Amino acid sequence: MKAIRVHQFGDPGVMKLETVDDLKPASDEVLIKVKAAGVNPADTYIRAGNFGARTLPYTPGMDAAGTVQAIGMDVHRFKANDRVYVAGSVSGTYAEQVLCKESQIHPLPNHVSFEQGAAMGVPYATAYYALFNRGHAMPGEMVLIHGASGGVGTAAVQIARSRGLTVVGTAGTDKGRELVAKEGAHHVLDHRAPDYLDQLMKLTGGQGVNIIIEILANVNLGKDLKLLATRGRVVVVGSRGTVEIDPRDTMSRYADIRGMSIMYATPGELAGIHAALGAGLENGTLRPIIGQKIPLAEAVRAHEEVMKPGSYGKIVLTP
Ligand code: NAP
Repeated sequence: MKAIRVHQFGDPGVMKLETVDDLKPASDEVLIKVKAAGVNPADTYIRAGNFGARTLPYTPGMDAAGTVQAIGMDVHRFKANDRVYVAGSVSGTYAEQVLCKESQIHPLPNHVSFEQGAAMGVPYATAYYALFNRGHAMPGEMVLIHGASGGVGTAAVQIARSRGLTVVGTAGTDKGRELVAKEGAHHVLDHRAPDYLDQLMKLTGGQGVNIIIEILANVNLGKDLKLLATRGRVVVVGSRGTVEIDPRDTMSRYADIRGMSIMYATPGELAGIHAALGAGLENGTLRPIIGQKIPLAEAVRAHEEVMKPGSYGKIVLTP
C-alpha cells in the first residue's frame, strides 16, 4: 500500500509517498481502508520535531474515515465493511490503510461522507472537550469562539449552538465569516477589525461573555480576560507563542484560565465525547465542513495550506 513516511524531522518536504507492506491487525486491532485523512496543525508541529515524542520513521496523521477491512480475533464491536471514523491510530492515517485499537474507531452514519468523517477526531473532540469538560458550558450562557472558521472553530460553533448557548464567532475573511454565520453563530465578528472587541462588549450589554474558546492565545489572552463576565472561563485551545496578561483581570471577575490538550482526555471521557458526537452526526446537528480535498501524494501542500490564514473548515487528504 501507499503511505506518507517521515524519516527525519523538518519542513513539509520531509514527507515522502512510499510503497510499504500491507498492514495486518493484531488480536485487539482493526484494519481500516482509508478513504480520507484529516490534516491537523499538530501534524505539522510533530513533523517539524517540535511536538510530542515520535520515533522515526513514522506515518503522520491522527484522523481518518473509511471502511473496516479486517478485525483481530478479540474485536467485537465492528465487522468487515462497516463505515467508521478514526480518532487516533496505531500506525498513522496518511496512508491507504490504518491500524486502530477498537476504542479509536466510531460508527460513521451513511449520510455523512468519508471526508466529513475525517474531520471528526481531533477537531470535534477538542471542541466538545473545550466547551464542556474544561469550559463547563451551560445552556443559556454566551460563548465567544475566538477563531471560528477553522476545523476546531466550526465544530465548536455547531456544538455550542445545538446545546443552547448564545454563540459569537470570529473569522478573518468575508468567506470565513459567512461560514461561521451559516454554521450557527448568532453573531459574527472580524478578528482583524480594530474595534471588534468593542462590538462584542456592546453585544453583551457591557456584561461580558461567560466562556471564551481561545484558538490563538498568544495574540488574544490578555484581551480575553477583559471580555469575561463574572465567573467567566477562558479555555486555551491553541497558542503559538507568549503573551502578557494582567492577573488582576482574573481577580476582579473571579475568572479562570483553563488550558487543555485533547491528549489528556481519559479513555472514559473520550468514550463519552464520541458517543455525543456520534449522536450529533446522526441527527444532523454536526455537519463537518470540508474546505479543501488534496490527494495523499500532495501531503506536502496540505501541510503548507493548513498553516495559512483564511481558514475554511477542514483540509483532508484522499488516497
Ligand atoms: P485551523 O483550521 O487552521 O483554524 C485556525 C483558526 O484560527 C481559524 O479560525 C483562523 O481564522 C483563526 N485565527 C487566525 N488569527 C486569529 C486571531 N488573531 N484571533 C483568533 N483566531 C484567529 O486550525 P484548527 O485545526 O482549528 O486548530 C486551531 C488551533 O488549535 C491550532 O493552533 C491547533 O494546534 C490547536 N489545537 C489544539 C488542540 C488541543 O488539544 N489543545 C486540539 C486541536 C487543535 P482566519 O483564518 O479566518 O483568520
